[in-house]
Parts: sequence; C-alpha cells; structure tokens
Amino acid sequence: MRAIRFETTGGPEVLQLADVETPKPGPGQVLVRHEAIGINFIDTYHRTGLYPVKLPCTPGGEAAGVVEAVGEGVTRFKPGDPVAYLGGFGAYAEANAVRADRAVRVPDGVDARTAAASLLKGMTVEALLNHTYRVSGGEIILVHAAAGGVGQIMTQWAKAIGAVVIATVGSEAKAVRVRELGADHVILYREQDVAEEVRRITGGRGVPVAYDSVGKDTFEGTLKSLARRGLFVSFGNASGPPDPVPPGRLAQAGSLYLTRPTLFDYVVTTEQLDASAAAVFEMIRSGTVAVEIGQTFPLDRAGKAHEALESRATIGASLLIP
Ligand code: NDP
Repeated sequence: MRAIRFETTGGPEVLQLADVETPKPGPGQVLVRHEAIGINFIDTYHRTGLYPVKLPCTPGGEAAGVVEAVGEGVTRFKPGDPVAYLGGFGAYAEANAVRADRAVRVPDGVDARTAAASLLKGMTVEALLNHTYRVSGGEIILVHAAAGGVGQIMTQWAKAIGAVVIATVGSEAKAVRVRELGADHVILYREQDVAEEVRRITGGRGVPVAYDSVGKDTFEGTLKSLARRGLFVSFGNASGPPDPVPPGRLAQAGSLYLTRPTLFDYVVTTEQLDASAAAVFEMIRSGTVAVEIGQTFPLDRAGKAHEALESRATIGASLLIP
C-alpha cells in the first residue's frame, strides 16, 4: 500500500511517499481502510522533532474509513463497520492497524471526511470546554486561532453553551469566517494588542479562562488578558513552545492558574472515548457545529499540506485523501 514516511526529522520535504506492506491487525486491533485522513498540527511537531518519535515514521494519528479485518479478541467491530480513530501513528497511509479501543463507530449522518476532520479536534474541544474548565453561559472566554480546525469547533461549541467568545485570528478573511460562526468579538492578533482589547471588551476585568494553542507568540498577551484567579489553558505550540514561566509570574498577574492539557489524559478509558466521541458527533448531527473542511490534499502531497498548515494558509480542518 502507499504510505507517507520520514526517515529523518526536518521540513515538509522529509515527508515522502513509500510502498509498504499493508499491516495485519494484531490482537485487539482492527485494520481500517482509509477514506479520509485527518491532518493535525501535532503531525508537524512529530515531523520536526519537537515531539520525539521513533524513525522511520509514518505520521498521522487520525483517520476514518471502513474496518477491513479484525484481530484476535476484537468484539467491538466487524468488517464493514464505518469507523474513525485517533492516537498512535501510521494514519498517513491507505490503511492502518489500530487499537480497536481507540476507534469509534461513525454514526449515520456523518460521512468519513467529516469524521476525519472533526473527531480528534472535536474531542479536544469537548475536554477543554467541559473538563479542563467548565465554561458556563454568559462567561466571556478567549479563544486563540479561532478560524483553525480546533478553533472553529471551539467557537461554535462555546456559543452553544452560551458563552461570549472573544476570538483571535491572523487575517481579515479568517475574521469574517469566525464572525459567521458566532464569535462575538474578533481580534486580529497580528495587528492588535490582545490584552488591551480583552480589557476593553471586559470592562477591565479580563477573562476567567483563555484557550491558547498558539504558544510562544501569544503567551504574554494571554497572561495579561486573564481575570484574577483566571485559568490559562496552554494546549498547543503553533508558533513554538512558550518560554518557561516562574511561578511568581502567575502571582503578579493575579494569582492565575496555568494548565497544559493533552487530550489523551482526558480520554483514557474506552468509556471516556465513546462518551466524548458521542458528544462530538451529536454536535455535528444536530447542526450545532459545522465542520469546515477548508482544504484537501492527495496523500502524496502531505508535504504541501504541512507547508500550508505551518504557513497559516489554511482555514478550518485539512484532510489527506488516499
Ligand atoms: P489549526 O488549523 O488551528 O492551525 C494552526 C493555526 O494557528 C494557524 O492556522 C494560525 O491561525 C495559528 N498560528 C498562529 N501563529 C502561528 C504560527 N507561527 N505558525 C503556524 N500557525 C500559527 O491547527 P489544529 O486545529 O490542528 O490545531 C490547533 C492547535 O491545537 C495546535 O496548536 C495543536 O497542537 C493544538 N492541539 C492540542 C491538543 C491537545 O491535546 N493539547 C489536541 C489537538 C490540537 P491564524 O492565521 O489565525 O493565526
């Protein structure tokens, strides 16, 4: 089968098409024939070596398709089931053998492309809005990179809860999009001072929670946007990892809390995985959350896809099509 591999870490050019053996599902695994592969920013961290991986590596931790074969002991799925999965590696390929307890059934009314564009990103949003901090109606929250894959889902989900969303984006076109999705206030963070704008919007108080996936470039602005005893949720590094923060900075900025969540600490058991996935699919099926697939790339253009993502040229989610 065709798969993308990299043998050394580096730029998008290290992602090369290879002809590899189709894996056989081991005990507890299913072989999924891919219809759509989710591209996530974390795939770029693996490629560059920011998050170390074993080489050679076929990147990708999310795809949707059909179960082709099941390994020993699997009762959760049977061949022919429509599924999506998250976690591990090997998704940038025509098929992948994955743990059955990291896959979920894709319900009627959700197609494979939508599932691959939304499962990991939507579950991240579910964890961040419901568990990292329980956002309530009427609260004013800050969402960075709101026009991105995670950001669009977060904006719509937070609006469904009844929150007031202050969204940051990198361009006018992205500002238009997040307004359409319901963002109440939009800050162009490449031109405007985020903390100043947030203080103005909140009458000087700041926000009780800020979701920051941009990392290095936005860290200071996020810190200064929080209300007393507010929660800084640092959940990504699109601009690079933030510098270390001495605890005293949190005191000076208003006795803040800082957390660095990762999805896989929120979906540990299969029950948690199923509950979170069900919540995501329900948001989509009910029309509460629209999933924008802003761009698709053929599998052999994975390098181009990473280039687009890292140069901030994408909007919504991106897919690879095998
Ligand atoms: P996005 O589609 O959101 O793409 C990243 C966006 O970040 C860009 O479009 C861009 O939007 C913004 N950005 C700001 N500065 C930069 C920069 N210097 N270089 C590149 N992009 C920049 O990606 P995803 O939806 O896949 O992921 C969003 C974030 O969420 C990532 O940081 C990812 O690591 C994180 N994440 C974390 C998880 C966790 O468990 N902790 C799980 C899933 C995702 P703009 O042009 O508007 O600035």
